[in-house]
Amino acid sequence: MNLKFKIYNLQLRHVFRIARGEESIAPIVIVELHHDGIIGYGEAAPSSRYGESVETVVKFYHKINLAKFNSPFETDSIMNYLYSISDGDTSAKCGIDLAIHDWIGKKLNISLSNYFGFDRSKLATSSFTIGMDSPEMLFKKIKEADDYPILKIKLGSENDEETIKLIRKITDKPLCVDANEGWKDKNLALERIKFLEDQNILFVEQPMPANQIKDTEWLREKSNLPLIADENVLSLSDISQIANAFDGINIKLMKCTGIREAMRMIHTAQGLNLKIMMGCMIESSIAISAGAQLLPMLNYPDLDGNVLITNDPFDGLINKNGNLLISNRPGLGVEPNEKYNSTPYLK
Ligand code: MG
Repeated sequence: MNLKFKIYNLQLRHVFRIARGEESIAPIVIVELHHDGIIGYGEAAPSSRYGESVETVVKFYHKINLAKFNSPFETDSIMNYLYSISDGDTSAKCGIDLAIHDWIGKKLNISLSNYFGFDRSKLATSSFTIGMDSPEMLFKKIKEADDYPILKIKLGSENDEETIKLIRKITDKPLCVDANEGWKDKNLALERIKFLEDQNILFVEQPMPANQIKDTEWLREKSNLPLIADENVLSLSDISQIANAFDGINIKLMKCTGIREAMRMIHTAQGLNLKIMMGCMIESSIAISAGAQLLPMLNYPDLDGNVLITNDPFDGLINKNGNLLISNRPGLGVEPNEKYNSTPYLK
């Protein structure tokens, strides 16, 4: 088994603003896992929130040696080996996990969805994310998102009420709200939630900072909207500690190290009666299609990273009005296009 990788700059359709900052280019690392004449593709979309960058991902890939494993079928051993290298580097580890699962699907000639035996007859519709913006740009973005039946709105600034009032002048669609830890005072958070309760909101994601879990428990008791943990839940071991403060968890492949860990988290959350959201970073179709393969297990898919960009290096996943249509291809269901093929490998 050997690895090759490329850095690729995803170009955003619009400058993307959340409570923490803004970006117009999102660099990722695309991994190729070569074994037995088959290439498995994976993607690492690092987030500075979790101390990662493309530089740390590449550094991690230079540290690891997969030659000691016989094949990607040794998934558990490979992932446990990656965990032994460092505590963080979750998106770097996710890149390998996705490549392993893509490889396995291709080797067996089935999609990941079939590999897991999912029933794809009933699938939830994905939300479409609108970042923070000026009133004029918000208006434009919501018009552009006309085909998407569920919007996800980023709040967590001074102007939250005005933002929602403005949106409600344009559309009455159901909204998901993500405060990205932006409400730092519990009384303020409650005030915002009380305002949102009669605004056709599906849920509120991460209302308060991750280190204010007691305040979030207090908030949940008084809130009539479901609260979903994002920054509070990175991996499996976090779930039991937040079960009293939230109604659901937002699993992100990049936070949890990939599909193997995501499946463990899904089963644990179901056992604790928590709803399952799956979110994403700004990602190409590689990672978004990986999430879409798990769609039958998700209550609230939020897998729109690939439609927020203009230069997707992979083809195979279609987002039709928020319905994620995976291809019939095996593995993750995607193949590189010319944009990927013309990008050089990193040494
Ligand atoms: Mg979030």
